[in-house]
Amino acid sequence: MESKLTPSLHTEQTHTGKRYALEGRNITKNFAFGQGMLPILKGISLTVEHGELLAIVGPSGSGKSTLLGILAGLDTPTGGQVFIDGADITHMKEGQLAAVRNAKIGMVYQGFNLIPTLTAQENVEVPLYVGKHHGSPAKRAQEMLELVGLSHRLHNRPHQLSGGEQQRVAIARALVTMPILVIMDEPTAALGVRETAAVMDVIRRINEQGLAIILISHNLPQVLELSDRVMVLRAGRRVGCVKTA
Ligand code: ADP
Ligand code: MG
Repeated sequence: MESKLTPSLHTEQTHTGKRYALEGRNITKNFAFGQGMLPILKGISLTVEHGELLAIVGPSGSGKSTLLGILAGLDTPTGGQVFIDGADITHMKEGQLAAVRNAKIGMVYQGFNLIPTLTAQENVEVPLYVGKHHGSPAKRAQEMLELVGLSHRLHNRPHQLSGGEQQRVAIARALVTMPILVIMDEPTAALGVRETAAVMDVIRRINEQGLAIILISHNLPQVLELSDRVMVLRAGRRVGCVKTA
């Protein structure tokens, strides 16, 4: 099958050594707590190769979502660095960071976060109006909705779709700018068994087409089935990382 997800690899400032889709070095995060500081992430390093699926598991409150926010450039770490496709995003100016996020990273959350007044197709088009993108947004959005099996739902609004369909729209939206990395925070946690299976099928297919994925999930069979490696977090530390495939 010809891939519709062929990310463009620009040449950018790189650090020496291997270029990963994502590399995190010694990431720390403290939150203010009373007079002091509460350490939430205590020095986490990780790599995700191009095309790899890394799952992150750990108890509730172990810092998974905080880590993802930092990896996606939505939050700044207290210490450490994040490289996206070789570029250090921790020291970027806001405009440049926004451009990298728009071009290279897709985000998917547990709660879909679709715009209720827009149709499925319009929701998917939104990121294309942010950065510079070639071609017709409508056509590109339709291609992405076809990829997630929703060609028959282009003109429906979120409230007319099931939870699983809404999440597949959110995945199509995350893919529409041809990112190199999609970051998913418990994407199936709000879904039933059949809807979860449909979303997992989409995750598997986009990963097979070469996208790197970071997936947080509490669903152990899902983690084992989809991932190449699993990283375990506990109380803000990486306590292990195992290869699963
Ligand atoms: P997980 O996603 O693994 O459940 P989180 O990253 O959401 O964990 O949270 C990790 C810890 O950080 C929790 O103890 C949470 O209460 C705390 N935390 C998260 N965000 C903030 C914040 N903005 N201010 C203070 N503490 C926070
Ligand atoms: Mg979380």
